[in-house]
Amino acid sequence: MALYVQKYGGTSVGSVERIEAVADKVQGFKQQGHDIVVVVSAMSGETNRLIGLAKDIQSNPNPREMDVLVSTGEQVTIALLCMALAERGVSAKSYTGSQVKILTDSAHTKARIQDIEVSSMQKDLESGNVIVVAGFQGVDDQGNITTLGRGGSDTTGVALAAALKADECQIYTDVDGVYTTDPRVVEGARRLEQITFEEMLEMASLGSKVLQIRAVEFAGKYKVPLRVLSSFQDGPGTLITIEDDAAVEKPIISGIAFNRDEAKLTVMGVPDVPGVASRILGPVSRENIEVDVIVQNVAADNTTDFTFTVHRNDYDSAEKVLNQVAEELGAREVVGDNKIAKVSIVGVGMRSHAGVASKMFDALADENINIQMISTSEIKISVVIAEKYLELAVRALHSAFDMDVNDSVSE
Ligand code: ADP
Ligand code: ASP
Ligand code: MG
Repeated sequence: MALYVQKYGGTSVGSVERIEAVADKVQGFKQQGHDIVVVVSAMSGETNRLIGLAKDIQSNPNPREMDVLVSTGEQVTIALLCMALAERGVSAKSYTGSQVKILTDSAHTKARIQDIEVSSMQKDLESGNVIVVAGFQGVDDQGNITTLGRGGSDTTGVALAAALKADECQIYTDVDGVYTTDPRVVEGARRLEQITFEEMLEMASLGSKVLQIRAVEFAGKYKVPLRVLSSFQDGPGTLITIEDDAAVEKPIISGIAFNRDEAKLTVMGVPDVPGVASRILGPVSRENIEVDVIVQNVAADNTTDFTFTVHRNDYDSAEKVLNQVAEELGAREVVGDNKIAKVSIVGVGMRSHAGVASKMFDALADENINIQMISTSEIKISVVIAEKYLELAVRALHSAFDMDVNDSVSE
């Protein structure tokens, strides 16, 4: 019999009825003889509601207090699920992050897991209990409550699976697997039977929120078998594979990810001399602003335009820093645009195929979509475009790369 760590997301525990449906499901696995550790999110909308309450009081609350606040959402669901299981005659025991001792660093609101104590959970499992753990939260070495960043319950699930050496970590959510792109945007999106860790990591970091990036990183690092499945219907879901199965012919592109959270800034007319990039980006990073895509052009008059993207929330502070830098460098002006989006195609098949970029650019040109920036790595190509064309671009690329349901040849 197997040990499964099963994570149920916000929608899957979004009401009493849904919590009861999860309890039925867990009871079913238990009756088959499996050991089950459940990780739950807060009920859908709850984390946002709590953040909203905080923002009503303070625009920039202390991160430690934010963690005390937002971690309460998951504490509600662990207790309710244990009650629903008890009602079905299944003995279950709830654990908060600090009761397990999910030890993290002290980076409030984005803490990283450092260690997990498994002994008490193991004892409870041996006595036949279902263990129900609050996702998203941990505790630092001073006993402070910490949280793992939005979507962090996925990471709790994978980290527990690694620590307990579970047979599989199952992420139950409101879609029945990982799709070629967000099925809420492209109707013809297709569920993938499997996707490699490498590809999933790119998809997650390029904006596909179906799995938190750190969860995928963790699963890759500790070789945790990871599967994304639906809470609402039976099916095989999508397996995130460690090794690429060479026998299966892979499509060139496995998926399309997109991200509306970015903004673009350009310092125009910067003298084209050594050290300029560092003099522009140094002050930006000292403000803890992460930079994503960077493009630099050389103009005929020996000046350059230096453009980069940041998270949209950082747009105003980045602009402030740049205005200062531009003055120091004698640059002409700083211009920005926060209505941009990034669309990326991802696939390990790209390594062995030429012409992928030009096919992507042709498909966008056919729709008259202007590409503002381009960035590539071995297995992905990203373009920055105007946000208003995002959905059109994703659909156009989805069909250009023959990913629509009807184009399906094999998987
Ligand atoms: P949960 O609350 O269960 O953690 P999330 O909302 O975090 O669920 O993640 C599931 C959502 O991810 C889906 O509803 C879907 O809209 C979105 N999504 C984005 N990209 C993809 C993709 N490539 N495949 C499947 N779902 C995706
Ligand atoms: N409740 C947290 C969030 O909404 C964590 C999670 O659901 O994974 O981000
Ligand atoms: Mg999620």
